[in-house]
Amino acid sequence: MSAVAGSGSLPIARLTIQPFVGADVRDLRALAAALTARVGELAVAPPAELPRSAFDARRGQYRAERLLDLLESREHEHVLGVTAADLYAGGLNFVFGIATPAGRKALVSLARLGMGTDRAGYAARMLKEAVHELGHTLGLGHCADARCVMRFSNSLADTDAKGDSLCARCRKRLESREALA
Ligand SMILES: [Zn+2]
Ligand SMILES: [Zn+2]
Repeated sequence: MSAVAGSGSLPIARLTIQPFVGADVRDLRALAAALTARVGELAVAPPAELPRSAFDARRGQYRAERLLDLLESREHEHVLGVTAADLYAGGLNFVFGIATPAGRKALVSLARLGMGTDRAGYAARMLKEAVHELGHTLGLGHCADARCVMRFSNSLADTDAKGDSLCARCRKRLESREALA
């Protein structure tokens, strides 16, 4: 059992960022730099092709679940897919990201995160959406705390309004999950 140290850190021993072709190298560097303080080891894999089978030509979007399925995570490793493509899932027009609940795979789309903001705002949104999806992989659901990173974002305004860390209650939930594991 590892303690959940620091307000921003996540109990993830090893995280691989798996970019899809089209994700900007500068964006990936910024995201990796922001995440490195939050997890144990962090690596960035070479970009993977975006599978045509996940593309919906009528919508011009990729199906998030399909991309998530294609991500591979080795044992004891979390994987975070990062794509510049716009994603949809289920009945939602678009999603900022998706994750396997209490699993090891998460996926974020950068497609909408740069809208109406500057470089710093964009970087902040990338980090929040990545931490949010990783939170789901750790078994956390959505949180009602307005500042908590696990608050659901339905819009960029929601993303901007929340923080990039877990609230005290979510941290407690994680600690009790780990104690049970
Ligand atoms: Zn969520
Ligand atoms: Zn919370």
